[in-house]
Amino acid sequence: QLDKIKERDPEYHCYITVSEEEAYKQADEVQARIDSGDLQGAHLAGVPMAVKDNICTEGIKTTCASKILSNFVPTYDATVIEKLKKSGAIILGKTNMDEFAMGSTTETSYYGEAKNPWNKKHVTGGSSGGSAAAVAAEEAFYALGSDTGGSIRQPASYCGVTGIKPTYGTVSRYGLIAYASSLDQIGTIGRNISDCAASLEVISGHDRKDATSIDQKSYEYTHALIDNVKGLKIGVPSDYFDDGLDEEVKDSLFKAMEVFRRKGAIVEEFELHSVKYAIPSYYVIACAEASSNLSRFDGVKYGYRTPNYEGLQEVYKNTRSEGFGDEVKRRMMIGAFVLSSGYYDAFYNKALKVRAIINQSFQKAFDRYDIILGPTAPTTAPVLGSSLADPLKMYLSDIYTVSVNLAGLPSVSLPCGRDSKGLPIGMQLTGKHFGEKDIIRAAYSYE
Ligand code: GLN
Repeated sequence: QLDKIKERDPEYHCYITVSEEEAYKQADEVQARIDSGDLQGAHLAGVPMAVKDNICTEGIKTTCASKILSNFVPTYDATVIEKLKKSGAIILGKTNMDEFAMGSTTETSYYGEAKNPWNKKHVTGGSSGGSAAAVAAEEAFYALGSDTGGSIRQPASYCGVTGIKPTYGTVSRYGLIAYASSLDQIGTIGRNISDCAASLEVISGHDRKDATSIDQKSYEYTHALIDNVKGLKIGVPSDYFDDGLDEEVKDSLFKAMEVFRRKGAIVEEFELHSVKYAIPSYYVIACAEASSNLSRFDGVKYGYRTPNYEGLQEVYKNTRSEGFGDEVKRRMMIGAFVLSSGYYDAFYNKALKVRAIINQSFQKAFDRYDIILGPTAPTTAPVLGSSLADPLKMYLSDIYTVSVNLAGLPSVSLPCGRDSKGLPIGMQLTGKHFGEKDIIRAAYSYE
């Protein structure tokens, strides 16, 4: 695997840090544990994998693809990393991403963009673009990503791999560098749903170090790898099929719906209504939380500090001006604005109300359906550079993914075809709260 990284990563730039020495050390330790019988039943023992660079790894640089954390080496492991190590995983390195997970293309990375392994002129998607591309380019067997508004599902869709975001509270966020805490959730990206389910099983579980972590009865996702969707009720929001949706993506989805029907599922169209409110509400809430979360990067406690200062005010100001990229600054300014006393009710409070409405419309849909099926993204991977020129267009491309985070639901993206350029198309299956097993079963049956 490390050889493949050496051969391919100069082309695709999936990794920010390759921790070769650590990986060999871990491999030796895991071998010893396997020999002593300590890892019996640990399916993923010895399997090399990659971690998004916003998840803290003890002794390995964790940059969030930002200049401001370019020298940050955590002194502790995130809970997910602890769990992975315990089950014998081998961490190859830290993957490229949009700076602080803000973006949909992995082009806002301070370390330079990642490239789509299916066509290097196109983006990988984002923000977990490095993780998805690493799996697609066989530079890792599976990878961790984080998903605030689609950052696992959308790059998985663009790179032709599978990605799952579990129900909010299923995976501990302890050690995940926060973007928007009420939306962020760690999940896994793999070559198929079996790999995603197996790795999700390892990292899930209640954690006292994360106040939003929820104790659940069963985390045995691999038990849902069953090829049977007879009688499963699948709803498809007809509001998803408007002008913004690419024709080739639409065709692939209709074919996928037919596959499910043939296998005995009940597939019906219905109106979700709330779709058009998702983007504005998401961007108000995400930016508000980001402006608060990112205030901790001030050049004093850790990370980059400007060499140009006289006095404390200048330390803050120059560190932040020099340390953050344009997209991050844009969002912090939007966030500070919508939270300011004069505009709080007009924007932030309104967005919270809309969030409640979106939640209700999903609840209503789940009274009738087990699963909601739709596209992951309106198009296949755009050409590199095209989104940076038009951030609003980039925001709008999150239309199908963000409402799932606003409602805290589990959701998976899996490949369902190719466009005429050969680029992968993804479909998104969303379940009820804690309905991971439904979407895993459906994805497995489809595969
Ligand atoms: N593209 C969305 C954003 O820029 C989602 C990012 C994410 O899920 N981290 O906020």
